[in-house]
Amino acid sequence: MVFDVLIVGGGVVGTAIFNKLVRIGKKVALIDKASDVATGASKANSGLVHSGYDPAPNSLKAKMNVRGSALFDALTKRLKVPFKRIGALVVGDDEKMIKNLYERGLQNGVKGLSILNRDEILKKVPNIADGNLVALYSKTAGVVSPYYLAISLADEGILNGGKVFLEEDLVNAEKEGEIFKITTKKNVFHAKNVVNSAGAGYNDVAKILGSETYPLSFRRGEYFVFGDTAPLNLKHTIFPLPTRLGKGVLVTPTIDGNYLVGPTSEDGDNITKTTYNGLNEIKAKASMILKNLNFKDAIREFSGVRVISGDDFIIEKSKKQAGVINLAGICSPGLSSAPAIAEYVTELLGYPLKEKEGLKELKDYTLLKNLPLKEQNAKIRENADYGEVVCKCEKITKGDIVDALNRPLKIRSVDGIKRRTNAGMGGCQGGFCFTKVVNLILKERKISYEEVLKENRGSFVALGNIREV
Ligand SMILES: Cc1cc2nc3c(=O)[nH]c(=O)nc-3n(C[C@H](O)[C@H](O)[C@H](O)COP(=O)(O)OP(=O)(O)OC[C@H]3O[C@@H](n4cnc5c(N)ncnc54)[C@H](O)[C@@H]3O)c2cc1C
Repeated sequence: MVFDVLIVGGGVVGTAIFNKLVRIGKKVALIDKASDVATGASKANSGLVHSGYDPAPNSLKAKMNVRGSALFDALTKRLKVPFKRIGALVVGDDEKMIKNLYERGLQNGVKGLSILNRDEILKKVPNIADGNLVALYSKTAGVVSPYYLAISLADEGILNGGKVFLEEDLVNAEKEGEIFKITTKKNVFHAKNVVNSAGAGYNDVAKILGSETYPLSFRRGEYFVFGDTAPLNLKHTIFPLPTRLGKGVLVTPTIDGNYLVGPTSEDGDNITKTTYNGLNEIKAKASMILKNLNFKDAIREFSGVRVISGDDFIIEKSKKQAGVINLAGICSPGLSSAPAIAEYVTELLGYPLKEKEGLKELKDYTLLKNLPLKEQNAKIRENADYGEVVCKCEKITKGDIVDALNRPLKIRSVDGIKRRTNAGMGGCQGGFCFTKVVNLILKERKISYEEVLKENRGSFVALGNIREV
């Protein structure tokens, strides 16, 4: 088969493009070197849908952010992905900077912005730290699970005829007339167009495709996760004033009820790790915006890596290799922009945005605990798996996990289940449910212990039996 488009990279941007192209009726394949979608920057970020006051006016970032944010309500409703516009405050003592941000927001076309004084801030954030006298309030800022969004975009695309291929190592690309022949270690793909959405792997892929490479740099961001029992009494995202390095160390509720505190901004390699210095920096900076942070409430630390290409996103048709679309340096606000980037790339490919008729709707995978009690009881009566709690901290049932394993994109990793159900994300961090999840993967996938992964290839949960069973 010759695909209309082959997308390399299944982060939130690649899956958004995949989903859109499938919905307009194109034959699309998405390949990723990882064992699941959303294992790059899209799994480790703040999960904020920014309203768009921060990027420079007229930049691609500003346009994509504002349009992307506007598309989130309908998109997440259609995919049944939880999304809430909880509002964000940028706090500080520099009224001039706050006014500048406000003006920039207006220029970018952001709705729902206002400037708050200390009393007004206190009404929204009773625990705001002293010294924060003025704030920009952005009513439309929201929170979403970035990986759950990417998974759902991929699943809906597959349901409607798109193909996703995981664990694909790109080896070669050549052109046979107008058609690309893309060779991986496992497969050969033929496609009329190729979209390079490989995030940190952009330049490696560009070299194989014969398209432009760019000077890219990496900037790590470390975080603390606080559990949902942390007594923060926080309803909005709180940012400090932005600096040259980014939006700064923020505190935010997540869509799942936990809290994130971070990220740092450290230039370096594409390596995810947390460090003593990074975590101490978060403690010091976050305490300048909220009074009641107790880092004993932290249940985990993690980090993600931003890919930077100067001041703006690069999204353009390759001049060196006709038929290739380059997406480089898709750092923040890439999550917020993803639905708009998908439209933009569709147009760059020369396709109309109009979607075809008769598209299939993604099943509702709402976790049992999030359903009204009456529906929970009905589901348990119908299928006892929903009455068996596997992850005690997050109250995730066997039925939820079996559903996740039977979603359109088939995965075999414990972390893949975690991203789909939150099993293992609570206070004990999988101490109780890890082996139970492994056993469910074995049963549903019909694979052996040695094939179950923690996350990516090589991260086996078991190497073999130590005695016959
Ligand atoms: C610390 C941090 C905080 C952030 N906070 C926010 C925020 O709150 N809001 C917001 O809007 N944005 C935020 N961002 C930015 C956002 O996370 C990114 O813009 C977005 O996730 C980028 O998505 P992507 O699909 O381009 O890249 P990725 O998610 O990195 O996906 C790239 C994919 O390409 C695959 N790949 C790489 N090389 C190859 C290869 N050779 N062959 C095949 N596949 C390959 C990878 O496996 C990966 O799946 C943040 C980023 C970071 C790091």
